[in-house]
Amino acid sequence: MRIEECPRVRLAFLPTELEEMGRLRQVVGGPRLFVKRDDNTGLVLGGNKARKLEFLCGDALARGADVVVTVGAAQSNHARMTAAAARRLGMDVVLVLEGDCPGKWEGNLLLDRILGAEVRFSGSRRAEECAGEVSQELAAKGRKPYLIPVGGSNAVGVLGYVLAAWEILDQAERQGVRPSHVVVAAGSGGTHAGLLAGMKMRCPDVRVVGISVSRTREALCARVAELATAAMDMLGGKKSVSPDDVLVECGYIGPAYGVPTEEGLEAISLLARREGLLLDQVYTGKAMAGLIDLVKKGRFGGGEDVIFVHTGGVPALFALGDIWPVRSGLARKQRCDPS
Ligand SMILES: *Cc1c(COP(=O)(O)O)cnc(C)c1O
Repeated sequence: MRIEECPRVRLAFLPTELEEMGRLRQVVGGPRLFVKRDDNTGLVLGGNKARKLEFLCGDALARGADVVVTVGAAQSNHARMTAAAARRLGMDVVLVLEGDCPGKWEGNLLLDRILGAEVRFSGSRRAEECAGEVSQELAAKGRKPYLIPVGGSNAVGVLGYVLAAWEILDQAERQGVRPSHVVVAAGSGGTHAGLLAGMKMRCPDVRVVGISVSRTREALCARVAELATAAMDMLGGKKSVSPDDVLVECGYIGPAYGVPTEEGLEAISLLARREGLLLDQVYTGKAMAGLIDLVKKGRFGGGEDVIFVHTGGVPALFALGDIWPVRSGLARKQRCDPS
């Protein structure tokens, strides 16, 4: 199938901007650095899930769904954007979130509530398992549920990032940018997989580097390869991606998924102060910390162009609590010394 033939609904503001981060480069040196502003996709405060949801919701509507069910962490950006997409398209939405109900409805969770999503917590059970049961319950009541996996990462959702890869290539060409690498935060792996598949199909010299925020190298490489191959299959391609083709960095996760790291908070502070650009503590801060570290280690040549995909996530900042100036040494220093 050609990608134009796949069911899709327009939900995102596209194309997003491709901007140079010249003032960041003055600090970190190395290649020219660009940012693909997928934090500005719209659909209730933006992020990468909007592109996936265009294809996932297209599929849901084509199948006659009237309620969307998905899973995520309490501060899931994917859950928030799925709720927004479902509402925009006139569907109901059930979010099954991992763990117990936190004390405060803040950040993404507050937005879920404002959007009128039905929010359930999985407690000690796996959210996926609970979501399967919720779908069965709904179907038994005569509803038409559509179940979206964690992060919207399956072959259908990944198509959104195949198109994003092509959008980046078109834009880069128009703007005189010649990307050697695209760097992106990797959680469930669908964004990485779509970018990789898209580049393989059009411009295989462009390397896609995923900075893991949760998974081990083995798990992430296998998942990204599987998803990229599935998306290319859907589009009638004959190529496949093996886990050995997948470039992943796993040194920036810190103690666990969602737990802020010193370097991640420093990256948030640095980008805010140098570029007026906000990152988040769960995904893009850690990914940016990874990019900066790779630049400092000389991973990229000075004449190269490197594109950082800003996948959004900023609403989670509003659930960071009051750790901000305390945990980050750099932020503390800059607070006292604004130079
Ligand atoms: C979901 C998410 C990611 C990771 O995307 P995957 O496709 O799950 O790997 C990165 N950044 C933000 C802000 C996200 O919400």
